Amino acid sequence: MNLRNCPECGRVFVYSTVNMCHACRQKEEEEFIKVKDYLYQNPKIGILELSEATEVDESKIVRWVREGRIEGKSFPGIVVPCDRCGKPIPNGRYCSQCSNDLARGFSSFTKKEEEPSIRTKAKFHIKE
Ligand SMILES: [Zn+2]
Ligand SMILES: [Zn+2]
Repeated sequence: MNLRNCPECGRVFVYSTVNMCHACRQKEEEEFIKVKDYLYQNPKIGILELSEATEVDESKIVRWVREGRIEGKSFPGIVVPCDRCGKPIPNGRYCSQCSNDLARGFSSFTKKEEEPSIRTKAKFHIKE
């Protein structure tokens, strides 16, 4: 059994897939619904106002945006800073520029056995 301390309330719980105890997960689910409802009624609201109106931690809302549970693209006020350059982005961790840079930088570290065969299959021969 994999026992852990819940990062929210500190209680010991059995870890499965989510790093949070059952009670906190349930509470967070309720908060998520509250935030999402409020956001749909006020689609132009920003994260800070949303957090104040729903009394849900701003950091939680930011996490949901990063996880893609809240689709920032549909809400102009919902933006999170890019983890690398700080540019506001509607979801995820990095802006498109940084994810391109990182993908290029990381490509040499990716599994070398799998990559080439996938690439060759995907190659198109374009006639001019
Ligand atoms: Zn907990
Ligand atoms: Zn960036």
